[in-house]
Amino acid sequence: MKNVVILATGGTIAGVGEPGKDTGYKSGSLTAKELVDAIPELSSIANIQVKQVCNINSDDITSALWIKLAKRIAELQNNPQVDGIVITHGTDTLEETAFFLALTTAGTKPVILTGAMRPATAAAPDGPANLIFAVKSAVRAATDLASKKQSEGNDVQHHENDCAPILVAFADKLISAESVQKIHPNRLDAFAAMDAETARGNETARGLHFEIDGEETLPKGTLPKVTVLYFNAEADAAQIEFAAKTAQGLVIAGAGAGEFSQSWMEALARIQIPVVITSRINAGRILPEQLLVPGTIAGYSLPAPKAAVLLRLALTKTDNPAKIQEFFAKF
Ligand code: ASP
Repeated sequence: MKNVVILATGGTIAGVGEPGKDTGYKSGSLTAKELVDAIPELSSIANIQVKQVCNINSDDITSALWIKLAKRIAELQNNPQVDGIVITHGTDTLEETAFFLALTTAGTKPVILTGAMRPATAAAPDGPANLIFAVKSAVRAATDLASKKQSEGNDVQHHENDCAPILVAFADKLISAESVQKIHPNRLDAFAAMDAETARGNETARGLHFEIDGEETLPKGTLPKVTVLYFNAEADAAQIEFAAKTAQGLVIAGAGAGEFSQSWMEALARIQIPVVITSRINAGRILPEQLLVPGTIAGYSLPAPKAAVLLRLALTKTDNPAKIQEFFAKF
C-alpha cells in the first residue's frame, strides 16, 4: 500500500454543529485524528499518517500559513517514506491555497486538496466521500508516477523539471489548481474548472516556480500585502488611494473586459504600486492591449483572488510592472 500523509487545516470538513443540521456549525472543530478515525475505510486504501497544520475557517488563512504548509509539503516531497499528500481545507479559499502551492511546490509526489460543503455532524456529510476520493486519487497518481519512473529507468536528469500535480478532488471531480474555482456557495458539487478555452492548463502554468525558503525575499515568513478592489457602478475611487497607501500591490476586478469609470482611471494613473487588471466576470481573459491605464498589468485568465496570489509571489522578486506582466502572460 502507498503511504499518504493527510495535512489537516480545518474547514467545514472538520466542522461541528447541531447533529443533523447543514448550517450554523463551527468550521475547523474536529482534529485531524478525529476526522480520519471517523472514516475507517481510509486505512484499507493507503497507510495513512495525519498531521494538523492549523484548524481554522479557511477565510482566516494567511500567507504565513501558506508558507508553513508549503514547507511541510517540501519536507514530505523529500521523504522517501511518503508517496502522496492530501490536504483538508475549507472550501472558501481552497482555490487560492491550491494555486499558491502550484506556484511554490517542487517535487513530483501528488498533492491533492479536498474539503466539504456540509459539516461532519450533518445528516449526510460529504466530507468522508471527498476525503476517500482524495486519498484514492493520491494513490492512483503515486502509482502512475512510480510506473512512469520505472519505465523510463533511473534517468534522474530527465525528471528534474517534473512538477507535482496539485489537484483538487471534490464531488468526484479532479481539477487542476490552476483552473479550479468555487462556483457555488451551497451545492455539494461546488467546484468547477474554468472555461477550457480560456485557461491554458497545467503545463504552461507550472513553468512558474517561486522559492518559499528564500530568507532574503520572505524575511518575516509572510508575503507582501495585496488589496483586491471590485468595481461597480459609481464605486468610490478613494479606495484606490487607500490601497496605494496600505498595500504593496493592487488587483482590480473590473467590469466586462477589466473596465472601470473615469474616476478610477484617473486614480489608477496616479498611484505608484503595481496594479493587475482582472474581470469580475471570472471567465475569459484580459490582455495587455485591453488595458485602460498605461503601466497596469493584464491578469490574463486569472480571476482576482488567484491574481492576488501570483502578484504577492511576484512582488517577492520585483515591483517592475513589465516583469510582473511576464509572469501573468503565462496564464
Ligand atoms: N467557511 C468554510 C471554510 O472555508 C466553508 C467550507 O469549508 O466549506 O472554512
